[in-house]
Amino acid sequence: MKISEFPEDLRPHLIPEPTGRLVYRCLECGREYGIDELLYTCPNCRGLFLLVDLHEDRLKEQPGSFWRRLFDYRKLLNVPALKGIFLYYELIAPVIPLTHIVYLGEGHTPQVAANADLAGTVGRAFAFKNDGQNPSASFKDRGMAPALSYLNFLASQPGAGKILAICASTGDTSAAAALYSSYLGDKIASAVLLPHGKVTPQQLAQPLGAGARVLEIPGVFDDCMKVVEALADGYQVALLNSKNSWRIRGQESYAYEVAQWFDYETAGKAVVVPIGNAGNITAVMQGFLRFHDLGLIDTLPRIVGVQSRHANPVFRYYAEPDRGRRVFVPVAVTPSVAQAAMIGNPVSMPRVIRLADEYTRRAGEAAVAVVEVSEQEIMDAMLLANRHGHIACTQGGESLAGLMAAVRAAIIDRDEYAVLDATAHHLKFVGFQQMYFDDAFPPEFEVTPKPEYQNRPQLITPKTDKPEEKTGDLAGQIARLLGLTPRPR
Ligand SMILES: *Cc1c(COP(=O)(O)O)cnc(C)c1O
Ligand SMILES: [Zn+2]
Repeated sequence: MKISEFPEDLRPHLIPEPTGRLVYRCLECGREYGIDELLYTCPNCRGLFLLVDLHEDRLKEQPGSFWRRLFDYRKLLNVPALKGIFLYYELIAPVIPLTHIVYLGEGHTPQVAANADLAGTVGRAFAFKNDGQNPSASFKDRGMAPALSYLNFLASQPGAGKILAICASTGDTSAAAALYSSYLGDKIASAVLLPHGKVTPQQLAQPLGAGARVLEIPGVFDDCMKVVEALADGYQVALLNSKNSWRIRGQESYAYEVAQWFDYETAGKAVVVPIGNAGNITAVMQGFLRFHDLGLIDTLPRIVGVQSRHANPVFRYYAEPDRGRRVFVPVAVTPSVAQAAMIGNPVSMPRVIRLADEYTRRAGEAAVAVVEVSEQEIMDAMLLANRHGHIACTQGGESLAGLMAAVRAAIIDRDEYAVLDATAHHLKFVGFQQMYFDDAFPPEFEVTPKPEYQNRPQLITPKTDKPEEKTGDLAGQIARLLGLTPRPR
C-alpha cells in the first residue's frame, strides 16, 4: 500500500529512523560497552551481554495501542527492509539504517493449527509455528538477519576492512550464517566449525553450497564452542553464536509474531520451545517481556521449554523446586535425534535464569516450566504430527512430545492453546526418519519403531516383456494392490 493511503497519524512512523542508542550490558557486573567494537563477552568479567537500548523509554511515550496499530499497518507496506523481522524495527536494532538491512525472506512464518483428529489425540488444541519455512529452513535466520545487517553496517564505516564471521554450530546456525554472509559478497567472509559426523548431510550441504569455509573437528558441539571462543578472544573475528546478542534480538521476533497472530490476545496461550544452547527460549521470553513492557500485550503466555533426556541440563536445573538450592551443572550429552539441541553446557543459561526470574515474578511461578522427553517420544511425536499434515523436524517433534508431557503433568490448563515451535524444516532431519523406518537406530538412541508409523516404498515391476503391455500390466497390478473397483462399462 502507498504511504499516502495509510491513516494520517501513522504515516510519519511507518518508515523508522535509527533513533535508538544500543549498548552491550554485562549480565554479571553491569558494565556497558559501545557497540562499535566486536565484543561478545565482558572484557571485565567474561559475563554474557544483553543488548539494551538506553533510549528505550522513548518507546513508552506511545501507548500499546499505538504500537499494535503501527505493527499491523506496517504489514501492508512494501518496503523490503521492513518485510521481515525488521517489521518490529524499533524493538530489534534501531541503530541500523534501513539501507543496510539484509532481507532474505525471514520471519512471519505460518501458524498451522492441528486438525481435530491430532488435537484430540494430544488432548489440547494447538498449532505448529513453522520456523522451518525461513530461508535456510530454521529459526536461526531470525537472528542472522540483524547480526549480518549490523556487520554490513560496520563494514560500511571508513577503514572497516573485510570482516571474518565465524560460528560453531549443531548445523542450522552455520547454514544461516553462511547464507546471510554469502549475500553480502566480498564484505564478509564466513567460516563455520562443525562437530565431525554430528550434523545431517542436508545441514552440511548448506554452508558448503553458500561458499563458506567449513571446518570440522572431532567431538560434539560443546567442543566446537570452546574453540570458537578461543578464536573470538584472541583474534579479530565476528562471532555468530548465540553469545552474539544481536541474534537474540532478532529471535525475539518469534514472540512478537505469536502475539500479533492472536491480535495481541495472549491470555490462555502457551508457547512450547525445544532448548539447546538456550538462545531461543531466552529470546522468546525476552520478546514477550518487552511487548508487555510497552503495553502491546496484557498477559504473558506460559513458556514451556523441552529437553531430551540425553541432553537435559536446563531441565535438571529447574527440577529443583527450591530456587535457593538450584545449581547449574553441565551434562555430558549422549546421542539424540534432536541433534540441533544436543548441548550439555548451554551458553545462554545465565540469560535464561535471569529472564525466567523476571517472567515468573510478573506472571507467577507456573508461567515457566521445563519438561524432559525420551528419544522414543520425540520420534513418535514427529511422525504423528507429520501424518497429520505438518512438516515438523525432530526438534518440532520434541516440542510436541513436550506438550504431551506437559499435558500429562497438568502444566497446561484444559482450555489453554499451545503454539509449538517447529524450529526447522522436516527435510533437514529426514535421516532420523529413515533410521526409524529401517529400524536402524544404534542402541544408545533407545528408539524402537512402532510398526504403524513405519513406511517404505514398494517396487512394482512389469510381469511382461512386451513393451505395449507394460503400462496395462502395471496399472492392473496397482489396481489390485489398492483394491480399486473397476468402472462399469
Ligand atoms: C538451534 C536449534 C535449536 C536449539 O535452539 P537454542 O537456541 O540453541 O536453544 C532447536 N532446534 C533447531 C532446529 C535448531 O536449529
Ligand atoms: Zn562484566
